[in-house]
Amino acid sequence: MRKTYRRGEHRVRALDGIDAAFAAGTFTAIMGPSGSGKSTLLQCAAGLDRIDAGEILLDGAPLHGLSERALTELRREQMGFVFQSFNLIPALTARQNVELPLRLAGRPLDPAAIDRGLAEVGLAERGEHRPAELSGGQQQRVALARALATGPTVLFADEPTGALDSTTAREVLALLRGIVEQHGQTVIMVTHDPMAASYAQRVVFLADGRVTGELVGPTAETVALRMAALEPGANRTAPC
Ligand code: ADP
Ligand code: MG
Repeated sequence: MRKTYRRGEHRVRALDGIDAAFAAGTFTAIMGPSGSGKSTLLQCAAGLDRIDAGEILLDGAPLHGLSERALTELRREQMGFVFQSFNLIPALTARQNVELPLRLAGRPLDPAAIDRGLAEVGLAERGEHRPAELSGGQQQRVALARALATGPTVLFADEPTGALDSTTAREVLALLRGIVEQHGQTVIMVTHDPMAASYAQRVVFLADGRVTGELVGPTAETVALRMAALEPGANRTAPC
């Protein structure tokens, strides 16, 4: 797929012929230097932004040709989102935040299912707390439970641990990995952190809007080495 942004007189090729597949039930990390197109790829894959050429299939069904309304419905029913900023509603309790996507989708609320969702992310005792009463890691875990409440086909995460310290980040990443392994959840996570990427089963590397390679069974070390080779200036031989 291709995606070009207009910036004044200029055109920025954010995605320059990306061809990628994400198998159901797998955890993939998307990595690349700043500006390589990671967020654009995620936004386009989620139908939040339109591509100029190519196609996006979710479970075999094309996203193109859908009206905004149909896309909104598809996102609500089949996609979950987690971002760097937790984006919880401050006035609502953890439980109410998790219930929100179900209410928006007009689905019946099953209190036992909400309990299970909160327990899954280790917050069984925190349902009545508001976001301000929770730590950053706890807030991101509420956001994760909220994203999973509707049973999405795919969970998109854009730098989900970007605002967390490394210990808390590891807890959230272990949860994500566990959800993939135990429930066969499909997860696509953008990150620039090799440690975060090492929790995925596969890493897809982007540079200048193109896929430049991938690693299966990544470790923080193998990912960091690949990233070092992709960073601008990596080919410099003389010190400056
Ligand atoms: P990453 O998430 O890897 O840092 P992005 O997907 O945000 O990269 O950006 C890819 C390229 O597209 C960059 O050159 C960026 O400046 C450009 N870009 C992203 N969003 C917009 C936008 N809304 N308008 C114009 N250019 C954009
Ligand atoms: Mg980004």
